[in-house]
Amino acid sequence: MKRRILVLTFIFILFALPVYAEILELDTMPNLDFHGLEYRFEKADSSEFISKEVVINEVYWLQETLPFLQKVNYSVYLVGEVCTRDTVNILGLSNLDTLEIYLFAIPQEKIGGQLSSYIKTVTTEHTIDHEIGHLLRYSFLSDEILLDYYKMRGGNIEEIESLTELEELFADDFAYLFGSPDLFPITFNDISFKTPGEKEKQWIITNLTLGFYKKFPEEGKKEILRARTVYNAKMKNKDYIGAEAAHVWANQIRQAIGLPLQG
Ligand SMILES: [Zn+2]
Repeated sequence: MKRRILVLTFIFILFALPVYAEILELDTMPNLDFHGLEYRFEKADSSEFISKEVVINEVYWLQETLPFLQKVNYSVYLVGEVCTRDTVNILGLSNLDTLEIYLFAIPQEKIGGQLSSYIKTVTTEHTIDHEIGHLLRYSFLSDEILLDYYKMRGGNIEEIESLTELEELFADDFAYLFGSPDLFPITFNDISFKTPGEKEKQWIITNLTLGFYKKFPEEGKKEILRARTVYNAKMKNKDYIGAEAAHVWANQIRQAIGLPLQG
């Protein structure tokens, strides 16, 4: 009985929330080029496959915090193979041009091991969060804005040789800040960067959302109308700080989509 209730709840959620992410299973990895790097793929045991349900739940979790994600059209493939490069086990790869994420089976002995330089503990949740972090940065943040983020994090942009380190820090911050707290407590592991907090979270929400409106100005215009309704309601309640925040937000969107600002 309990199981039936769970299944019904799940179906209800599927109908209640629009989702554009496509989540599909693949037996083998298609032959794709990832910057000319050599990856090896080997058939995995089905006990090592990652759970589709976990991925679906995580995608819904992210959409709750970042509502614009419901309108981003991307695909997640769960591949029934283990992926390695040299001796390193690879958990996920993203094709940023086609917005496709490939997640691989996790060898049993790797679960609970090191995920990346910034975050401890391997979980499927954090692998998908990390890859979505890459995808959103690529889709909605310019290199210049990413450099601003790195500076805010205390990084020295004069010392970096390529964007890779920034990309990985951003993806791991994204996973740490937005991922669901299920299963394992996640530890921010890097000694050179402080654990990200509310400031970083707000920065990422604001800049990704503005980047989304820049790409989809019609959605931005709808949000400006919503902000106006919020402004009017706040003014009516004499909440002048709240009204000002709605006004500032509407102007940030106007600026992002190239409309004249309002005083
Ligand atoms: Zn990465």
